[in-house]
Amino acid sequence: MSILILNAGSSTLKLALYDRDCRLALSGLAEWEADRAAGALRLSDALGRARSVALESAGPGEIAAEAIRAMLRETGAESAASSVRISVHRVVHGGEMFRNSVRIDDRVKTEIRRLCELAPLHNPPALLGIEAAERVLPGVPGLAVFDTAFFAALPPRAFLYPLPYSWYTEWGIRRFGFHGISHAYCTERAAALLTRPAEDLRLVTCHLGNGCSASAVRSGSPVATTMGFTPLEGLMMGTRCGSVDPGILLHLLERGLLDPVRLDLALNHHSGLLGVSGLSSDFREIESQALAGHERARLALEMFADRVRATVGAFAATLGGLDALIFTAGIGEHSASLRARVCEGLECLGLRLDRDRNRACQPDADVAADSSSGRILVLHAREDLHMAREAVRYLTRPDAPQRPAGDAPRSDGRY
Ligand code: AMP
Repeated sequence: MSILILNAGSSTLKLALYDRDCRLALSGLAEWEADRAAGALRLSDALGRARSVALESAGPGEIAAEAIRAMLRETGAESAASSVRISVHRVVHGGEMFRNSVRIDDRVKTEIRRLCELAPLHNPPALLGIEAAERVLPGVPGLAVFDTAFFAALPPRAFLYPLPYSWYTEWGIRRFGFHGISHAYCTERAAALLTRPAEDLRLVTCHLGNGCSASAVRSGSPVATTMGFTPLEGLMMGTRCGSVDPGILLHLLERGLLDPVRLDLALNHHSGLLGVSGLSSDFREIESQALAGHERARLALEMFADRVRATVGAFAATLGGLDALIFTAGIGEHSASLRARVCEGLECLGLRLDRDRNRACQPDADVAADSSSGRILVLHAREDLHMAREAVRYLTRPDAPQRPAGDAPRSDGRY
């Protein structure tokens, strides 16, 4: 029996096959050009052996279907498709409705489509991936796992903005939080590594990749997170600005310096590390240029680290102390110098980095000094594993409540 995991982006599809014991058998990355006519699928098996397969197709969605077919062919099993028990799909936005993973049916797809308004870059490719899996694997159930679901547990004091309350009740303006699959995985993994129940832990989880977010987690549930109504709020990111004074945006619009379309482009695509450095959104490039003496690359690095550190401090206060600080995703896992910068000054919170452990770290690892009262963990981001576990939970108890009562599409302004 296999579990097929799909994580669809606008021009990429990450695939993975797990067995019923949540062991990874095969993973793949399909990439294609904007015209979707051709692309390539890079596969690697459990032993790290890699191979590449060319993809050809016609029409939107077909290239994703072709990638799934190619991956299943490559398993070598004669009837690989018939061994797939469930397909699991990462969906970025689940709104207020989806508080858990959910079996996909027509109503679920309608709701995911409605939420495209809030996640125009992310929910449409997820739908294409779902429909591609339905075509390749007819009759195989699909499970949607939402990035927002972990944050359904946020209390109102954390998910409301200090805006007129009617903006929430009538227009649905609230914090949703994103990267929830990663933050949920880190919470479980930290508890396992620290050999303590999640219920006993106060954690700050920092997902630092192209997109960046941090969460405060108490007793296994989030109590605060940096991303908000959209994935634009919070920490500085590769090309996204994170939190800025909304008065700046009003000023630019009122003065006619930027229209809404150009403002959106600037905040989402021309800000963050790229905007400040003027060089790149790629952290490796920023680090190497900063080392070579590029002034604005150095500035971008400092601003990035300052914002993460300030958030860790704020969240530690929210939690009333910290048992572990967690770094994950491309930057969090791989940049020892960023982790060292962030931890400078956090000794006041009982977090003491061991410089040698940090430099030599191979995730998953604890890089805190023995004398540190809080642990500092570097975890390999494993959203796919979390999704495979969700599938096993679903297959074990398919009748468990998947979502709250009142599951008809919303007719008020809320999401
Ligand atoms: P992700 O979105 O998790 O794939 O992370 C992408 C980010 O991680 C990019 O900014 C990369 O430059 C950064 N990254 C990947 N590998 C490294 C590395 N070895 N050192 C520093 N940053 C890295």
